[in-house]
Amino acid sequence: MRGILTATGVVLVAALLYAGSCVVWPFGDCWVCSGTGHHRSASARRLSRPCRWCKAAGKRLRLGRRAWNRARRLHRDITR
Ligand SMILES: [Zn+2]
Repeated sequence: MRGILTATGVVLVAALLYAGSCVVWPFGDCWVCSGTGHHRSASARRLSRPCRWCKAAGKRLRLGRRAWNRARRLHRDITR
């Protein structure tokens, strides 16, 4: 029983830390282009195209922040 409580506490603290980091740093590097904004194909190294995933920004909204924005939007739409 004590192990379950400890595990729950660890998960809770990790979730709080992640939520806090999503507030402070809402954007992360794009995982497709590694933050460069350009996608380079492996076969043709000289060809570089704008990254479609981040629209060449090199940054993407983190998952926790995206969920937070969606929840806020939902709350706003319900309470109006
Ligand atoms: Zn990208």
